[in-house]
Amino acid sequence: MILTLLTGGDVVEAKPLVSLIVPAYNEEAVIEETYKRLKNVMEQGGYDFEILIVDDGSTDRTPEKVKKICLNDKRVKLIRFSRNFGHQVAISAGIDRAVGKVAVIIDADLQDPPEVIPGMIEKWSTGYEVVYGVRKKRKGESLFKRVTAALFYRLLRQMTPIEIPLDAGDFRLLDRKVLEELKKMPERRRFVRGMVSWVGFRQTSVEYVREKRFAGTTKYPLRKMINFAIDGILSFSTVPLRISSALGFLSAAVSFLMMMYGLIVRIFYPSRVMTGWASLFVAVLFIGGIQLICIGILGEYLGRVYEETKKRPLYIVAELLNFD
Ligand code: UDP
Ligand code: MG
Repeated sequence: MILTLLTGGDVVEAKPLVSLIVPAYNEEAVIEETYKRLKNVMEQGGYDFEILIVDDGSTDRTPEKVKKICLNDKRVKLIRFSRNFGHQVAISAGIDRAVGKVAVIIDADLQDPPEVIPGMIEKWSTGYEVVYGVRKKRKGESLFKRVTAALFYRLLRQMTPIEIPLDAGDFRLLDRKVLEELKKMPERRRFVRGMVSWVGFRQTSVEYVREKRFAGTTKYPLRKMINFAIDGILSFSTVPLRISSALGFLSAAVSFLMMMYGLIVRIFYPSRVMTGWASLFVAVLFIGGIQLICIGILGEYLGRVYEETKKRPLYIVAELLNFD
């Protein structure tokens, strides 16, 4: 989608501006290399570009390093958060500030190879509004992470009516139209990959090999991963609520059958004494457990409703660099 401008009779092809959105949290070990790789790929492809690095409240030297890069290259812009707000919020801040005709979200740790970007732009120029990267292979990630991730994407797919692609992360290209729609979505617990699917438009994929982290360690420990997975499911599905009603019906049905059994024994076999406080005890605990689980599920949704009603800003910017 190259814009053709008419200037003094000559046809000049102006390249569309590409915004690269890079969330970074304690990435001092990689950020300079990431900048170099991104810059090289974009310059070699002859693209006009801006790199928005969103510093998500790093406690290491990431912001200092980014500032240094910003001084030498005005195409690099820094959005520094006042504290850690999370990966998905950092991406959203990048989307809010990007001015490109098209944007690419890419991790700071070079697990998403920048060399895939030209292929994404190529597909975009044939008319797709979303080009998401599908991980053909994941390198340098534990078996546990690969298995749980694969299961999660499949479970999510079962639970939501929208088509969320399998094995695709946030490494993706978004057209301006999609960016504008995403900016209208104020939700707190953000699951960007689901939000992009929800928005719709023409979407396609490119396959890539997810590399090993270039340096540093993962910023997604198990606890964060579990929270992220729960957010993904609860933001896009009410199936868990349905499951809790189903559990209720199931236990009511079982207790009804038990009651009938008790009555029949009582009426027709009065000599047979029904004993067993153990079974009674187990049944009470079982029902109690199911009730607590159902209340918990309800509570998860209610807590999210509470968060939304407070209408706090999604993030707080402490510093902006190289924005006009
Ligand atoms: N990240 C972030 N805020 C966080 C956690 C992570 O901005 O609270 C960034 C991180 O710097 C990286 C990207 O999100 O650029 C993905 O994180 P990471 O590579 O640690 O996750 P993994 O690839 O191990 O799932
Ligand atoms: Mg990573």
